[in-house]
Amino acid sequence: MISEPSQPDTTPALVVREISKSFDGTDAVNDVSFQVEQGEILALLGPSGCGKSTTLRVLAGFERPNQGLVQINGETAVGPALWRSPEQRRIGMVAQDFALFPHLSVGENIAFGLPDGHHAWWTKPLRRFRRTEPPTRVRRMLELVGLDGFADRYPHELSGGEAQRVALARALAPQPAAVLLDEPFSNLDQNLRASLRLAMRNILKQANTAAVFVTHDREEALSLADRIAVMRNGRIEQIGAPDDIYYRPETRFIGTFVGDANILPGERVRGGAETELGFVVVVNPAEETAGQAIDVLLRPEQIALRPCRDPGPDCANVISSEYYGHDQVVRVRLQSGKEVEARLRTEVVWQPEDPVDVIVLDDAIAFPR
Ligand code: ATP
Repeated sequence: MISEPSQPDTTPALVVREISKSFDGTDAVNDVSFQVEQGEILALLGPSGCGKSTTLRVLAGFERPNQGLVQINGETAVGPALWRSPEQRRIGMVAQDFALFPHLSVGENIAFGLPDGHHAWWTKPLRRFRRTEPPTRVRRMLELVGLDGFADRYPHELSGGEAQRVALARALAPQPAAVLLDEPFSNLDQNLRASLRLAMRNILKQANTAAVFVTHDREEALSLADRIAVMRNGRIEQIGAPDDIYYRPETRFIGTFVGDANILPGERVRGGAETELGFVVVVNPAEETAGQAIDVLLRPEQIALRPCRDPGPDCANVISSEYYGHDQVVRVRLQSGKEVEARLRTEVVWQPEDPVDVIVLDDAIAFPR
């Protein structure tokens, strides 16, 4: 008998449909829908108060929505007349402060949510007699997060980055359908964050567990997530891959929230816009209406400078330059007085008052004025 090749399970890890939640009549989350595939990392990104944490709390079961549906690995957790409590959901949580139990060792923290066989390992009365190796699952989790040999340490003996990894290991140990992380880097040293982001991404990818994390830090969202849902006033304004969100923002708010942006006034013409920097191709010509007043968004890295070909009053002038080693950010005043910012490599270090020509390197995004 020939057996059928096994089909990969394509059930989404999370389905969120038309979730709304209000407090005292004020909407905190309004008609939010999204889906997270198995192994996918989604960021909920937005300014303070936009409803990110409330959305996460609804998924975890700490908050009851006024309406909407939540499915976890195909099982309904929230629906019409249905409500599963947090412990009935296959969800792992990583709190902002990691919330490790201070009186339990690292191994005991990780074993905490595991079924009884593992549980007994750390039960206090037994511990004296069973000071043996941590159970397999705990050992695997420690290996996964790169902390083998840490099982007997206590939380106060860990660095911030190590504590975060223990919290992640504890959340992943019971093999949840998804892990939810609330501002996972906000308690960590700024200099460490970039390397920890990469480490966390690698761990989640290796575990192939879906993750949703909340952040107001655009760099964190862009570098860690497979997709980003940008929230504003309780709603998702756009959901997409990081480069979609960054280079093809659907609204001016997203354009300016997810990255540094130059906004130049212009006029719609065929295929693009006429601006003070000349003709610029725009990538969203669908709404094209010739003659319409628009604003054009250009990222600082989409602009180049060169020494002004014809020094005189028609040149733009450098106002300031911040040198970062790997690149520099140069502010330039155009002839009209409008200021733009360029992010440039450092072969040429620009100085205030340098006369320059400003060149647009890429297609831009246009928004109605
Ligand atoms: P932050 O980044 O500051 O944590 P957020 O985007 O996570 O913000 P939420 O914490 O979800 O935003 O809050 C959304 C709105 O709901 C805010 O206006 C907040 O004041 C309100 N809110 C949240 N929880 C409650 C509550 N338990 N009672 C009343 N209002 C609440």
